[in-house]
Amino acid sequence: MALGTAMEARRRLDAGTASAVGLARSSLERIGAWDGRLGAILSTDPGRTLACAEAADRRLAAGERTPVLGLPVVLKDNLHWKGTPTTCGSRMLEAYRAPYDATVVARLLAAGAVPVAKANMDEFAMGSSGEHSAFGPTRNPWDEGRVPGGSSSGAVVAVAARYAPLALGSDTGGSVRLPAGFCNVTALRPTYGVLSRYGLTSLASSLDQVGPIGVSAEDVGAILQVMAGRDPLDSTSRALPRLESLFPLRPADLRGKRIGLPAEYWGTGLEPGVRTTLETALGGLRELGAELVPTTLPHTGWALDAYYLVCTSEASSNLARYDGLRYGPRDPDGAATVATVRRNALGSEPKRRILLGTFCLSRGSYEAFYLKALKVRTLIARDFEAAFRQVDLLATPVSPSVAFPLGARVSDPLLMYLSDVFTVTSALAGYPALTVPAGFSEGLPVGLQLMAPPLGDTFLLEAAHGYQQAFPHHLKTPTQLPQETPHGL
Ligand code: GLN
Repeated sequence: MALGTAMEARRRLDAGTASAVGLARSSLERIGAWDGRLGAILSTDPGRTLACAEAADRRLAAGERTPVLGLPVVLKDNLHWKGTPTTCGSRMLEAYRAPYDATVVARLLAAGAVPVAKANMDEFAMGSSGEHSAFGPTRNPWDEGRVPGGSSSGAVVAVAARYAPLALGSDTGGSVRLPAGFCNVTALRPTYGVLSRYGLTSLASSLDQVGPIGVSAEDVGAILQVMAGRDPLDSTSRALPRLESLFPLRPADLRGKRIGLPAEYWGTGLEPGVRTTLETALGGLRELGAELVPTTLPHTGWALDAYYLVCTSEASSNLARYDGLRYGPRDPDGAATVATVRRNALGSEPKRRILLGTFCLSRGSYEAFYLKALKVRTLIARDFEAAFRQVDLLATPVSPSVAFPLGARVSDPLLMYLSDVFTVTSALAGYPALTVPAGFSEGLPVGLQLMAPPLGDTFLLEAAHGYQQAFPHHLKTPTQLPQETPHGL
Protein backbone atom coordinates (compact mmCIF):
# COMPACT_ATOMS: atom_id res chain seq x y z
CA MET A 1 0.00 0.00 0.00
CA ALA A 2 1.23 3.46 -0.86
CA LEU A 3 1.59 6.27 1.64
CA GLY A 4 -1.95 7.45 2.30
CA THR A 5 -3.03 10.67 3.90
CA ALA A 6 -0.81 12.33 6.47
CA MET A 7 -3.49 11.73 9.08
CA GLU A 8 -3.51 7.97 8.38
CA ALA A 9 0.26 7.91 8.81
CA ARG A 10 -0.17 10.02 11.97
CA ARG A 11 -2.53 7.41 13.47
CA ARG A 12 -0.13 4.57 12.67
CA LEU A 13 2.78 6.41 14.19
CA ASP A 14 0.77 7.13 17.33
CA ALA A 15 -0.33 3.49 17.55
CA GLY A 16 3.24 2.27 17.10
CA THR A 17 2.41 0.33 13.91
CA ALA A 18 4.68 2.58 11.85
CA SER A 19 7.93 4.38 12.55
CA ALA A 20 9.25 7.71 11.35
CA VAL A 21 12.34 5.96 10.00
CA GLY A 22 10.15 3.48 8.10
CA LEU A 23 8.11 6.27 6.57
CA ALA A 24 11.20 8.28 5.64
CA ARG A 25 12.85 5.23 4.00
CA SER A 26 9.67 4.44 2.14
CA SER A 27 9.51 8.00 0.93
CA LEU A 28 13.15 8.06 -0.23
CA GLU A 29 12.74 4.71 -1.98
CA ARG A 30 9.69 5.88 -3.82
CA ILE A 31 11.57 8.97 -4.96
CA GLY A 32 14.47 6.78 -6.09
CA ALA A 33 12.20 4.43 -7.99
CA TRP A 34 9.92 6.93 -9.71
CA ASP A 35 11.40 10.34 -9.90
CA GLY A 36 13.46 9.58 -12.97
CA ARG A 37 10.08 9.67 -14.73
CA LEU A 38 8.42 12.59 -12.98
CA GLY A 39 11.27 15.04 -12.34
CA ALA A 40 9.71 16.37 -9.15
CA ILE A 41 12.78 16.27 -6.93
CA LEU A 42 16.01 18.28 -7.17
CA SER A 43 17.91 16.95 -4.17
CA THR A 44 17.72 14.62 -1.20
CA ASP A 45 19.99 14.31 1.83
CA PRO A 46 19.26 10.84 3.22
CA GLY A 47 21.69 11.21 6.14
CA ARG A 48 20.05 14.38 7.37
CA THR A 49 16.54 12.99 6.73
CA LEU A 50 17.17 9.76 8.61
CA ALA A 51 18.69 11.67 11.52
CA CYS A 52 15.47 13.72 11.77
CA ALA A 53 13.39 10.54 11.54
CA GLU A 54 15.39 8.82 14.28
CA ALA A 55 14.94 11.85 16.53
CA ALA A 56 11.19 11.77 15.81
CA ASP A 57 11.01 8.08 16.72
CA ARG A 58 12.70 8.83 20.03
CA ARG A 59 10.17 11.57 20.76
CA LEU A 60 7.29 9.26 19.81
CA ALA A 61 8.66 6.52 22.05
CA ALA A 62 8.81 9.04 24.91
CA GLY A 63 5.09 9.61 24.45
CA GLU A 64 5.32 13.01 22.76
CA ARG A 65 2.67 13.92 20.17
CA THR A 66 2.46 16.81 17.69
CA PRO A 67 0.31 17.07 14.55
CA VAL A 68 3.32 16.29 12.32
CA LEU A 69 5.74 14.34 14.52
CA GLY A 70 7.46 11.74 12.31
CA LEU A 71 5.69 12.69 9.07
CA PRO A 72 7.69 13.02 5.83
CA VAL A 73 7.46 16.42 4.13
CA VAL A 74 8.87 17.68 0.83
CA LEU A 75 10.05 21.31 0.54
CA LYS A 76 9.92 23.49 -2.55
CA ASP A 77 13.45 24.50 -3.46
CA ASN A 78 12.88 28.16 -2.61
CA LEU A 79 12.56 27.37 1.12
CA HIS A 80 15.71 27.40 3.22
CA TRP A 81 16.59 24.20 5.08
CA LYS A 82 19.98 24.88 6.67
CA GLY A 83 22.93 23.21 4.97
CA THR A 84 21.01 21.94 1.94
CA PRO A 85 20.78 23.33 -1.61
CA THR A 86 18.18 26.04 -2.24
CA THR A 87 18.40 26.51 -5.99
CA CYS A 88 15.02 28.10 -6.73
CA GLY A 89 15.14 26.04 -9.94
CA SER A 90 17.88 28.34 -11.25
CA ARG A 91 21.48 27.92 -12.43
CA MET A 92 22.08 31.18 -10.57
CA LEU A 93 21.78 29.39 -7.21
CA GLU A 94 23.05 25.96 -8.25
CA ALA A 95 25.92 26.11 -5.75
CA TYR A 96 24.05 27.97 -2.98
CA ARG A 97 23.51 26.22 0.35
CA ALA A 98 20.96 27.55 2.83
CA PRO A 99 22.86 29.21 5.71
CA TYR A 100 19.80 29.11 7.98
CA ASP A 101 16.30 27.61 8.30
CA ALA A 102 13.22 29.41 7.01
CA THR A 103 10.84 30.08 9.90
CA VAL A 104 8.30 27.62 8.50
CA VAL A 105 11.03 24.97 8.21
CA ALA A 106 12.33 25.69 11.71
CA ARG A 107 8.80 25.32 13.09
CA LEU A 108 8.26 22.06 11.19
CA LEU A 109 11.54 20.69 12.51
CA ALA A 110 10.67 21.74 16.05
CA ALA A 111 7.37 19.86 15.72
CA GLY A 112 9.24 16.78 14.50
CA ALA A 113 8.33 16.68 10.80
CA VAL A 114 10.92 14.93 8.63
CA PRO A 115 12.05 16.78 5.47
CA VAL A 116 12.79 14.20 2.77
CA ALA A 117 13.59 16.23 -0.35
CA LYS A 118 13.80 19.60 -2.05
CA ALA A 119 11.36 19.89 -4.91
CA ASN A 120 11.67 21.11 -8.49
CA MET A 121 9.99 24.39 -9.39
CA ASP A 122 9.70 27.00 -12.10
CA GLU A 123 12.74 29.25 -11.91
CA PHE A 124 12.30 31.70 -9.01
CA ALA A 125 8.64 30.57 -8.83
CA MET A 126 7.87 32.22 -12.16
CA GLY A 127 5.57 29.98 -14.11
CA SER A 128 2.32 28.09 -14.26
CA SER A 129 3.40 24.75 -15.69
CA GLY A 130 6.61 23.45 -14.09
CA GLU A 131 8.44 23.81 -17.42
CA HIS A 132 10.55 26.84 -16.49
CA SER A 133 12.99 25.03 -14.20
CA ALA A 134 16.64 25.21 -15.27
CA PHE A 135 16.86 21.54 -14.23
CA GLY A 136 14.16 20.20 -16.55
CA PRO A 137 10.39 19.97 -16.44
CA THR A 138 8.24 18.10 -13.95
CA ARG A 139 5.61 15.73 -15.33
CA ASN A 140 2.03 15.16 -14.25
CA PRO A 141 1.67 11.69 -12.66
CA TRP A 142 -1.86 11.41 -14.06
CA ASP A 143 -0.53 11.74 -17.62
CA GLU A 144 3.19 12.09 -18.08
CA GLY A 145 2.68 13.90 -21.38
CA ARG A 146 1.05 16.77 -19.52
CA VAL A 147 2.27 19.51 -17.20
CA PRO A 148 1.61 19.26 -13.47
CA GLY A 149 1.03 23.02 -13.19
CA GLY A 150 3.40 25.42 -11.49
CA SER A 151 5.31 26.92 -10.05
CA SER A 152 5.24 24.51 -7.06
CA SER A 153 5.31 21.65 -9.57
CA GLY A 154 7.62 19.29 -7.72
CA ALA A 155 6.09 19.83 -4.27
CA VAL A 156 2.60 19.09 -5.58
CA VAL A 157 3.71 16.09 -7.64
CA ALA A 158 5.54 14.73 -4.59
CA VAL A 159 2.18 14.56 -2.79
CA ALA A 160 0.20 13.42 -5.85
CA ALA A 161 2.65 10.53 -6.39
CA ARG A 162 2.71 9.92 -2.61
CA TYR A 163 6.44 10.40 -2.20
CA ALA A 164 5.25 12.10 0.97
CA PRO A 165 1.81 12.99 2.30
CA LEU A 166 2.80 16.61 2.97
CA ALA A 167 4.72 19.33 1.17
CA LEU A 168 5.35 23.05 1.29
CA GLY A 169 5.14 25.17 -1.83
CA SER A 170 4.76 28.90 -2.32
CA ASP A 171 1.89 30.82 -3.86
CA THR A 172 2.40 34.29 -5.31
CA GLY A 173 -0.46 34.19 -7.78
CA GLY A 174 -1.64 30.59 -7.68
CA SER A 175 1.46 28.42 -7.53
CA VAL A 176 0.16 25.84 -5.09
CA ARG A 177 -3.50 26.02 -6.11
CA LEU A 178 -3.07 25.57 -9.86
CA PRO A 179 -0.85 22.46 -9.67
CA ALA A 180 -3.00 21.03 -6.86
CA GLY A 181 -5.99 21.29 -9.21
CA PHE A 182 -4.08 19.61 -12.05
CA CYS A 183 -2.79 16.79 -9.81
CA ASN A 184 -5.67 16.01 -7.39
CA VAL A 185 -4.22 17.23 -4.11
CA THR A 186 -5.38 19.75 -1.50
CA ALA A 187 -3.43 23.00 -1.18
CA LEU A 188 -3.95 26.25 0.67
CA ARG A 189 -2.87 29.77 -0.03
CA PRO A 190 -3.27 31.18 3.50
CA THR A 191 -4.33 34.72 4.30
CA TYR A 192 -1.35 36.95 3.52
CA GLY A 193 0.83 37.04 6.63
CA VAL A 194 -0.37 33.84 8.32
CA LEU A 195 2.87 32.07 7.38
CA SER A 196 6.19 33.81 7.81
CA ARG A 197 8.09 34.59 4.63
CA TYR A 198 11.46 34.59 6.40
CA GLY A 199 13.63 32.15 4.47
CA LEU A 200 11.26 31.93 1.50
CA THR A 201 13.18 33.35 -1.46
CA SER A 202 11.23 36.37 -2.65
CA LEU A 203 9.47 36.63 -5.98
CA ALA A 204 6.97 39.44 -5.25
CA SER A 205 7.01 40.22 -1.56
CA SER A 206 3.53 41.76 -1.29
CA LEU A 207 2.04 38.60 -2.82
CA ASP A 208 4.27 35.70 -1.73
CA GLN A 209 2.87 33.20 0.77
CA VAL A 210 4.06 29.75 1.77
CA GLY A 211 1.43 27.21 0.69
CA PRO A 212 0.89 23.96 2.61
CA ILE A 213 0.02 20.95 0.46
CA GLY A 214 -1.50 17.65 1.62
CA VAL A 215 -3.67 14.80 0.48
CA SER A 216 -6.65 16.11 2.43
CA ALA A 217 -7.85 19.29 4.15
CA GLU A 218 -7.14 17.57 7.48
CA ASP A 219 -3.51 17.10 6.42
CA VAL A 220 -3.23 20.76 5.46
CA GLY A 221 -4.78 21.82 8.78
CA ALA A 222 -2.25 19.76 10.73
CA ILE A 223 0.80 21.19 9.01
CA LEU A 224 -0.61 24.73 9.07
CA GLN A 225 -1.15 24.57 12.80
CA VAL A 226 2.50 23.99 13.64
CA MET A 227 3.75 26.78 11.32
CA ALA A 228 1.21 29.61 11.56
CA GLY A 229 1.50 32.82 13.50
CA ARG A 230 3.55 35.92 14.21
CA ASP A 231 7.23 35.80 13.51
CA PRO A 232 9.48 38.63 14.67
CA LEU A 233 11.60 37.99 11.56
CA ASP A 234 8.72 38.90 9.20
CA SER A 235 7.01 42.19 9.97
CA THR A 236 4.05 41.28 7.72
CA SER A 237 3.29 38.10 9.67
CA ARG A 238 0.20 37.87 11.84
CA ALA A 239 -1.58 35.52 14.23
CA LEU A 240 -4.24 33.13 12.92
CA PRO A 241 -7.36 32.91 15.11
CA ARG A 242 -8.76 29.50 16.03
CA LEU A 243 -5.38 27.84 15.62
CA GLU A 244 -6.36 25.08 18.06
CA SER A 245 -9.22 24.02 15.76
CA LEU A 246 -6.83 23.09 12.93
CA PHE A 247 -5.85 19.81 14.57
CA PRO A 248 -7.77 17.64 14.89
CA LEU A 249 -9.85 19.33 12.22
CA ARG A 250 -13.60 18.98 12.52
CA PRO A 251 -15.82 19.08 9.42
CA ALA A 252 -17.89 22.24 9.11
CA ASP A 253 -21.65 21.86 9.12
CA LEU A 254 -22.50 23.40 5.76
CA ARG A 255 -26.25 23.55 6.39
CA GLY A 256 -27.44 27.07 5.81
CA LYS A 257 -23.99 28.31 4.80
CA ARG A 258 -24.06 30.67 1.82
CA ILE A 259 -21.57 29.88 -0.93
CA GLY A 260 -21.23 32.58 -3.60
CA LEU A 261 -20.62 31.75 -7.25
CA PRO A 262 -19.04 34.83 -8.87
CA ALA A 263 -20.44 35.23 -12.38
CA GLU A 264 -17.04 36.26 -13.81
CA TYR A 265 -15.58 32.81 -13.04
CA TRP A 266 -18.41 30.66 -14.31
CA GLY A 267 -18.75 32.28 -17.75
CA THR A 268 -18.00 31.02 -21.22
CA GLY A 269 -14.25 30.34 -20.98
CA LEU A 270 -14.52 27.03 -19.09
CA GLU A 271 -13.74 23.74 -20.81
CA PRO A 272 -16.98 21.73 -21.01
CA GLY A 273 -15.50 18.79 -19.04
CA VAL A 274 -14.32 21.12 -16.28
CA ARG A 275 -17.73 22.76 -16.10
CA THR A 276 -19.64 19.46 -15.88
CA THR A 277 -17.32 18.08 -13.20
CA LEU A 278 -17.53 21.26 -11.13
CA GLU A 279 -21.30 21.47 -11.45
CA THR A 280 -21.49 17.99 -9.94
CA ALA A 281 -19.20 19.15 -7.11
CA LEU A 282 -21.41 22.18 -6.49
CA GLY A 283 -24.39 19.80 -6.39
CA GLY A 284 -22.50 17.94 -3.65
CA LEU A 285 -22.14 21.14 -1.62
CA ARG A 286 -25.87 21.73 -2.03
CA GLU A 287 -26.61 18.16 -0.84
CA LEU A 288 -24.59 18.97 2.28
CA GLY A 289 -27.00 21.81 2.95
CA ALA A 290 -25.13 24.80 1.54
CA GLU A 291 -27.06 27.48 -0.28
CA LEU A 292 -25.44 28.45 -3.61
CA VAL A 293 -25.96 32.10 -4.42
CA PRO A 294 -24.98 34.06 -7.53
CA THR A 295 -22.57 36.90 -6.84
CA THR A 296 -20.13 39.13 -8.67
CA LEU A 297 -16.50 40.29 -8.46
CA PRO A 298 -16.76 42.95 -11.15
CA HIS A 299 -13.07 43.88 -11.53
CA THR A 300 -11.91 40.30 -12.19
CA GLY A 301 -11.27 41.13 -15.86
CA TRP A 302 -8.35 43.41 -14.89
CA ALA A 303 -6.79 41.09 -12.34
CA LEU A 304 -4.25 39.39 -14.60
CA ASP A 305 -2.97 42.72 -15.90
CA ALA A 306 -2.65 44.11 -12.39
CA TYR A 307 -1.02 40.93 -11.12
CA TYR A 308 1.64 40.74 -13.83
CA LEU A 309 2.48 44.44 -13.39
CA VAL A 310 2.83 44.18 -9.60
CA CYS A 311 4.60 40.82 -9.77
CA THR A 312 7.16 41.80 -12.40
CA SER A 313 7.83 45.18 -10.73
CA GLU A 314 8.56 43.58 -7.36
CA ALA A 315 10.48 40.72 -9.00
CA SER A 316 12.76 43.11 -10.88
CA SER A 317 13.74 44.64 -7.57
CA ASN A 318 13.99 41.37 -5.61
CA LEU A 319 16.14 39.70 -8.27
CA ALA A 320 18.68 42.53 -8.36
CA ARG A 321 20.68 40.65 -5.70
CA TYR A 322 21.58 37.89 -8.21
CA ASP A 323 24.56 39.68 -9.66
CA GLY A 324 27.46 37.28 -9.21
CA LEU A 325 28.70 39.35 -6.24
CA ARG A 326 26.14 38.96 -3.49
CA TYR A 327 24.62 35.78 -4.94
CA GLY A 328 25.26 33.71 -8.03
CA PRO A 329 28.29 32.16 -9.69
CA ARG A 330 31.41 34.21 -9.11
CA ASP A 331 33.82 34.56 -11.97
CA PRO A 332 37.22 33.20 -10.77
CA ASP A 333 39.10 35.75 -12.88
CA GLY A 334 36.89 38.55 -11.69
CA ALA A 335 36.49 39.57 -15.29
CA ALA A 336 32.79 38.80 -15.78
CA THR A 337 30.46 41.75 -15.57
CA VAL A 338 27.15 41.62 -13.74
CA ALA A 339 25.50 41.53 -17.15
CA THR A 340 27.46 38.43 -18.19
CA VAL A 341 26.60 36.58 -15.01
CA ARG A 342 22.92 37.40 -15.39
CA ARG A 343 22.91 36.57 -19.10
CA ASN A 344 24.41 33.15 -18.49
CA ALA A 345 22.78 32.09 -15.25
CA LEU A 346 19.17 33.28 -15.62
CA GLY A 347 16.55 31.63 -17.82
CA SER A 348 14.28 33.41 -20.24
CA GLU A 349 11.30 33.88 -17.87
CA PRO A 350 13.25 35.70 -15.13
CA LYS A 351 14.88 37.84 -17.82
CA ARG A 352 11.50 38.70 -19.31
CA ARG A 353 10.13 39.69 -15.90
CA ILE A 354 13.17 41.73 -14.93
CA LEU A 355 12.84 43.67 -18.18
CA LEU A 356 9.09 44.14 -17.81
CA GLY A 357 9.33 45.11 -14.15
CA THR A 358 12.22 47.51 -14.66
CA PHE A 359 10.25 49.17 -17.44
CA CYS A 360 7.13 49.43 -15.24
CA LEU A 361 9.08 51.11 -12.46
CA SER A 362 10.98 53.51 -14.69
CA ARG A 363 10.25 57.22 -14.76
CA GLY A 364 7.33 57.89 -17.05
CA SER A 365 5.95 54.35 -16.79
CA TYR A 366 5.63 54.20 -13.03
CA GLU A 367 2.45 56.25 -12.89
CA ALA A 368 0.96 54.84 -16.07
CA PHE A 369 1.48 51.19 -15.15
CA TYR A 370 2.63 50.43 -11.62
CA LEU A 371 0.47 52.95 -9.75
CA LYS A 372 -2.51 52.10 -11.93
CA ALA A 373 -2.04 48.42 -11.12
CA LEU A 374 -2.02 49.22 -7.40
CA LYS A 375 -5.31 51.10 -7.79
CA VAL A 376 -6.84 48.14 -9.61
CA ARG A 377 -5.56 45.92 -6.80
CA THR A 378 -7.56 48.02 -4.32
CA LEU A 379 -10.68 47.74 -6.48
CA ILE A 380 -10.27 43.96 -6.56
CA ALA A 381 -9.94 43.82 -2.78
CA ARG A 382 -13.12 45.91 -2.50
CA ASP A 383 -14.93 43.44 -4.78
CA PHE A 384 -14.09 40.69 -2.31
CA GLU A 385 -15.13 42.78 0.69
CA ALA A 386 -18.50 43.47 -0.92
CA ALA A 387 -19.08 39.83 -1.92
CA PHE A 388 -18.26 38.58 1.57
CA ARG A 389 -20.92 40.83 3.07
CA GLN A 390 -23.42 38.43 1.45
CA VAL A 391 -21.74 35.01 1.62
CA ASP A 392 -19.65 32.76 3.89
CA LEU A 393 -17.47 31.28 1.14
CA LEU A 394 -16.87 31.73 -2.57
CA ALA A 395 -16.56 28.78 -4.94
CA THR A 396 -14.83 29.01 -8.32
CA PRO A 397 -12.90 26.80 -10.73
CA VAL A 398 -9.15 26.63 -10.07
CA SER A 399 -8.44 26.74 -13.78
CA PRO A 400 -10.51 26.97 -16.96
CA SER A 401 -8.87 23.77 -18.26
CA VAL A 402 -7.44 20.45 -17.12
CA ALA A 403 -3.65 19.99 -17.20
CA PHE A 404 -2.39 20.90 -20.66
CA PRO A 405 0.20 18.99 -22.73
CA LEU A 406 3.88 19.66 -22.10
CA GLY A 407 5.12 22.29 -24.54
CA ALA A 408 1.65 23.62 -25.35
CA ARG A 409 2.11 27.07 -23.77
CA VAL A 410 5.79 27.37 -22.98
CA SER A 411 6.66 29.47 -26.02
CA ASP A 412 3.64 31.75 -25.62
CA PRO A 413 4.05 33.72 -22.37
CA LEU A 414 0.67 35.44 -22.63
CA LEU A 415 -1.15 32.14 -23.00
CA MET A 416 0.85 30.78 -20.06
CA TYR A 417 -0.12 33.83 -17.93
CA LEU A 418 -3.80 33.17 -18.71
CA SER A 419 -3.58 29.89 -16.77
CA ASP A 420 -3.68 31.98 -13.57
CA VAL A 421 -6.85 33.86 -14.39
CA PHE A 422 -8.82 32.41 -11.43
CA THR A 423 -6.06 32.37 -8.83
CA VAL A 424 -4.43 35.81 -8.99
CA THR A 425 -7.48 37.72 -7.69
CA SER A 426 -7.46 36.40 -4.11
CA ALA A 427 -3.66 36.79 -4.05
CA LEU A 428 -3.95 40.47 -4.98
CA ALA A 429 -6.63 40.93 -2.31
CA GLY A 430 -4.74 38.91 0.36
CA TYR A 431 -7.62 36.47 0.88
CA PRO A 432 -7.16 32.78 1.71
CA ALA A 433 -8.02 30.27 -1.02
CA LEU A 434 -7.95 26.50 -1.16
CA THR A 435 -7.88 23.93 -3.94
CA VAL A 436 -10.15 20.96 -3.26
CA PRO A 437 -10.06 17.94 -5.59
CA ALA A 438 -13.51 17.85 -7.18
CA GLY A 439 -13.53 14.93 -9.61
CA PHE A 440 -12.20 14.05 -13.04
CA SER A 441 -12.73 15.03 -16.65
CA GLU A 442 -11.60 12.29 -19.06
CA GLY A 443 -9.30 10.85 -16.41
CA LEU A 444 -7.68 14.17 -15.48
CA PRO A 445 -8.22 15.90 -12.13
CA VAL A 446 -10.39 19.00 -11.78
CA GLY A 447 -10.02 21.36 -8.81
CA LEU A 448 -12.63 23.47 -7.06
CA GLN A 449 -11.35 26.66 -5.42
CA LEU A 450 -12.95 27.78 -2.16
CA MET A 451 -12.19 31.21 -0.74
CA ALA A 452 -12.92 32.75 2.66
CA PRO A 453 -12.58 36.19 4.24
CA PRO A 454 -9.17 37.20 5.65
CA LEU A 455 -8.13 34.98 8.59
CA GLY A 456 -10.98 32.57 7.78
CA ASP A 457 -8.41 29.88 6.91
CA THR A 458 -9.62 27.49 9.62
CA PHE A 459 -13.23 27.64 8.50
CA LEU A 460 -12.10 27.18 4.90
CA LEU A 461 -10.35 23.93 5.82
CA GLU A 462 -13.28 22.78 7.97
CA ALA A 463 -15.64 23.33 5.04
CA ALA A 464 -13.36 21.40 2.69
CA HIS A 465 -13.08 18.60 5.25
CA GLY A 466 -16.88 18.36 5.35
CA TYR A 467 -16.93 18.08 1.57
CA GLN A 468 -14.08 15.54 1.46
CA GLN A 469 -15.76 13.25 3.97
CA ALA A 470 -18.79 13.02 1.70
CA PHE A 471 -16.95 13.12 -1.65
CA PRO A 472 -13.46 11.63 -1.30
CA HIS A 473 -12.09 12.44 -4.79
CA HIS A 474 -8.82 13.41 -3.10
CA LEU A 475 -8.09 9.79 -2.17
CA LYS A 476 -7.75 8.65 -5.81
CA THR A 477 -4.15 8.20 -6.92
CA PRO A 478 -2.69 7.89 -10.43
CA THR A 479 -2.98 4.22 -11.40
CA GLN A 480 0.27 4.05 -13.37
CA LEU A 481 2.27 4.61 -10.20
CA PRO A 482 3.09 1.74 -7.87
CA GLN A 483 0.64 1.20 -5.03
CA GLU A 484 3.16 -0.81 -3.02
CA THR A 485 6.23 0.30 -1.12
CA PRO A 486 8.86 -2.00 0.37
CA HIS A 487 7.91 -0.95 3.90
CA GLY A 488 4.24 -1.60 3.48
CA LEU A 489 3.39 1.99 4.33
N1 GLN B 1 1.98 31.59 -12.38
C1 GLN B 1 2.10 32.82 -11.66
C2 GLN B 1 3.34 33.54 -12.08
O1 GLN B 1 4.05 33.01 -12.90
C3 GLN B 1 2.12 32.54 -10.20
C4 GLN B 1 3.47 32.16 -9.72
C5 GLN B 1 3.47 31.88 -8.26
O2 GLN B 1 2.42 31.84 -7.61
N2 GLN B 1 4.64 31.72 -7.72
O3 GLN B 1 3.61 34.62 -11.64
